[in-house]
Amino acid sequence: MIRFSKRFRKYWRAKVIVIDGKKIAAEITSSLKVDASKERPPGLAFVLVGKHPASQTYVKMKERGCKEVGIHSETLELNEAVSEEELLKVIAELNETDTIDGILVQLPLPDHISASKILMAIDPAKDVDGFHPLNMGKLLLGESGGFIPCTPLGVATLLKKEEIATEGKHVVILGRSNIVGKPLAALLVQKELNATVTIAHSKTKNMGELCRSADILIAAIGHPRFVGPEFVREGAVVIAVGINRLQEGLVGDVDTEAVSEKASMITPVPGGVGPMTIAMLLSNTFESYKRRCGS
Ligand code: NAP
Repeated sequence: MIRFSKRFRKYWRAKVIVIDGKKIAAEITSSLKVDASKERPPGLAFVLVGKHPASQTYVKMKERGCKEVGIHSETLELNEAVSEEELLKVIAELNETDTIDGILVQLPLPDHISASKILMAIDPAKDVDGFHPLNMGKLLLGESGGFIPCTPLGVATLLKKEEIATEGKHVVILGRSNIVGKPLAALLVQKELNATVTIAHSKTKNMGELCRSADILIAAIGHPRFVGPEFVREGAVVIAVGINRLQEGLVGDVDTEAVSEKASMITPVPGGVGPMTIAMLLSNTFESYKRRCGS
C-alpha cells in the first residue's frame, strides 16, 4: 500500500492510496521458482495471428515475464490469412506437446476465425488463460481445479493483497466481456469473497447513480477517462482495468487524477491491473506445470 510515493507524486494533493500493481505483481512472481531438480522448466506457448500492434506488445510483455521467472516460452506467429482449420491443427499439436504446460491464443483473432471454436479446442488442462468453457464453468460453479482468467484473478488478488474487504460490499463492474466483466463477477460472488455484484454495460440506465452506489467500482470498458469523479462515491475503491492507447500514451478508463479527490484507493494505468494480469498468467502456468509434472 502506498501513500504519496515518488512514483505517483502527481496525486500527492489527494488523500487517495495509489495501489502499486507492479510491486504486488513482482512480489508474486518472485515466489515462482523453477525446481532445478526437474527434467524441464514450465513451458508456455503463445499463438499470435496477424500483426495486430497491441497484441504483439502484449505477447512481448508476457514473453518477458516468462523469461524473468524461468518459464520456457515459444511464440507461434501465424499469418493473418491462416485458416481456422490450420489454426486448429496448431492447437492440436500444442495439446500433444509434453513440454508445453500452457497455451495462450492472443485475442482478438481475425473475423474469419471463430474465437470460441479455437478456445474450445485448447486442452482445458493447458488453458492457462481460463477461457475454455470447462474452466469458465468451474469458476461459475465455485469448483476448484480449473484455471481462472488472468485479469479477473489479478483484480481479486490485488484486492486481497491490499486487504480491501469484499464481503457484503457492493461491487459495480463496468463491462460484461467474457474475458473481464463476466468472469470477474463470477469470481467476486463466490463464497470466499462474498461480494454483491452488479454488472453494467452499454445499455445500462442511470449509470452515474449505479456507480455512486458502489463500494468498489471496477471499470473495464475501453473508453479513456470514462469514469470521472461524478461516478464515484466519497471513499470508494476504484479499479481501472481498461487500457487505451492514445497519442499522449496509455490512458485508463478512469480519470485517475480527478477521481483521486474522492476515492480512498485507486489503481493507476499503467502499473495497476496490467502487471497483475501477467503475474497471474505466470502463476497459472506454474500451476499447470505442477499438476502435469507433480510438485
Ligand atoms: P470488450 O470486449 O470490448 O468489452 C467492453 C465492455 O464494455 C462491453 O461489455 C461493453 O458493453 C461495455 N461498454 C462499452 N461502452 C460502455 C459504456 N459507455 N458504458 C458502459 N459499458 C460500456 O472489452 P474487454 O476485452 O473486456 O476489455 C475492456 C478494457 O480492458 C479494454 O480497454 C482492454 O484493453 C482492457 N483490458 C485490460 C487488461 C489488463 O490486464 N489491464 C486485460 C484485459 C482487457 P456492451 O457489451 O453492451 O457492448
